[in-house]
Amino acid sequence: MKVVEIKNLTVEYPGVRALDNVSFSIEQNDFLGIIGPNGAGKSTLFSCMLGLNTQYSGSIHFFGEDIRVTKKYLGDVGYVPQKPVFEKNFPATVREVVRMGLRRNGNEKRVDEVLQDVWIHELSHKRIGELSVGQQQRVFIAKALVGDPKILILDEPVTGIDAQSTELFYGILCELNKKQNITIIWASHDLDAVNKLANKVACLDRTLFFHGVSDEFFSNEELVKKYSESSMQKHMHNHVES
Ligand code: ADP
Ligand code: MG
Repeated sequence: MKVVEIKNLTVEYPGVRALDNVSFSIEQNDFLGIIGPNGAGKSTLFSCMLGLNTQYSGSIHFFGEDIRVTKKYLGDVGYVPQKPVFEKNFPATVREVVRMGLRRNGNEKRVDEVLQDVWIHELSHKRIGELSVGQQQRVFIAKALVGDPKILILDEPVTGIDAQSTELFYGILCELNKKQNITIIWASHDLDAVNKLANKVACLDRTLFFHGVSDEFFSNEELVKKYSESSMQKHMHNHVES
């Protein structure tokens, strides 16, 4: 079953076409890795999918319904932002932050469950700002999970996290996908991790230059090489400009 269908999505900012005629769909229980260099349009794609950016042409359907027509789907979508970093003195505990994601009919028991799911239960009474970036990121997964999403969207979630936290994080994503059957949409720079975890891959660089089964992408040396070269060039370009 298709849970998301994106057709001819085009987004123009003043002077920049961030997405150009992008079409693909996501099946229930997919673990989709979206790879693309900085500026490829990944965050733009997510902001359209989340209904935050409505200045697009083309269409986005969730569960068969056009998101321009209904916002109901948002109740089934969890989102983990790119940089959930709090200042040291932010006056909320881990538990309080997670509780913010609770629905009206949700209960406190669910808060404990998700805290355990992401291995953060022992830290639940700490202030959020006392945690490392990796731990904070897990708190944000918990906050998304406590609303019992069917789909979880993560925007380059391991930027600036140490290797051990990254491994733990990947393990959690796998569990959520395999055991709790949550569809995962995950933007990442980490090709090796995408290769290991995702069953589908989308290669984005304003246009979509590949979408399909992960093995098909990673076993095609030419495609991987083409992707690596173009993203490396972009990286150098950004370096020179900044
Ligand atoms: P990614 O997440 O893949 O790094 P983005 O979606 O953030 O890519 O950006 C895609 C392009 O759109 C970039 O050229 C970026 O500078 C531009 N862009 C992103 N957001 C805005 C905005 N709000 N206004 C103008 N340009 C933007
Ligand atoms: Mg981004």
